[in-house]
Amino acid sequence: MDEFVQAHKMKTITTTMESLKKHGFEALFFASREEAAAHIFEMAADCATVGIGGTLTVRALNILPRLEEAGKTIFDHWKLKPGTPEELECRKRQMTADLLLASSNAVTMTGEIVNRDGCGNRTNSITFGPKKVVIVVGRNKIVPDLDSAFARIEEVAGPIRSASLSRKTPCVATGYCMDCDSPERICNVTSIIHRKPMLTKITVILLDEELGY
Ligand code: SF4
Repeated sequence: MDEFVQAHKMKTITTTMESLKKHGFEALFFASREEAAAHIFEMAADCATVGIGGTLTVRALNILPRLEEAGKTIFDHWKLKPGTPEELECRKRQMTADLLLASSNAVTMTGEIVNRDGCGNRTNSITFGPKKVVIVVGRNKIVPDLDSAFARIEEVAGPIRSASLSRKTPCVATGYCMDCDSPERICNVTSIIHRKPMLTKITVILLDEELGY
């Protein structure tokens, strides 16, 4: 990579980490998913239960099989049939897990964590409930400010996630958000974590990789 591109990339990450720390979050940087997975595994040492949101980023770390092998109970609603009582219960258990693993739609260089959910299980569980919350973020999700975060959600994350779920929403056709009234809409709850929530410790892991939508 060109040295100036590399320097700019690291400046972006460093600025984001400084802003997150000023806002009361723990902010860590890892160059690879393997290093991030190793750190998360250490953080899980005193945790019996682990909740996981609907995140491709965390799954890409291949951390879940390791946690299962270590005897942790994993609350992963993706393994259950959507709409069943078991799936609903699993989403609820995520909110009181010892460790909650999630990603984010966008993290700003000014230090905010921004998410838009269909159900709200992620936006709920990352703000209150679990003993520890870890949010894993690829460098592709770092944006300058809140306006850019919403733009990312509406121009990238929402349309791609809708397509991946085979939703019949207008953004799948246009490539950008139409603020639809579709019954298959996936954007129903928006959360901005401006500062560390009073009763929840949040660790943001920034990764020098492009991961997730
Ligand atoms: S609100 Fe509708 S159109 Fe916009 S991103 Fe969400 S699902 Fe797509």
